[in-house]
Amino acid sequence: MKKVTSLLMAIFCAFTFSMVAFADSAEVQPRAAECPFCGSNGWSVTRVGRRANGSTEVSCTHYQYGTDVITKYIVDYSGSCYACGQTQATQSTETELVCHGRSHI
Ligand SMILES: [Zn+2]
Ligand SMILES: [Zn+2]
Repeated sequence: MKKVTSLLMAIFCAFTFSMVAFADSAEVQPRAAECPFCGSNGWSVTRVGRRANGSTEVSCTHYQYGTDVITKYIVDYSGSCYACGQTQATQSTETELVCHGRSHI
């Protein structure tokens, strides 16, 4: 009986973890984390926006004609702590592909 319970717990934990991972990758909600300044759990990061950082045009990989435009973005995040009031800006990068291909001229 004890084995069954622990197995169920393992499944439940795996399910919970996958939900958290999904929410994390979406980056829609500000998420609380450990503050790098005071170590409390009041650190939250919000996405400020993104700015284009150059683009390249390559021939389309989806259709016979046309091009794909690959744009690189710098994404700005703003972190702040509820506990100590410190703030810190961080950045990451994103690439986005826009297809301008077509199947005939
Ligand atoms: Zn803090
Ligand atoms: Zn394409």
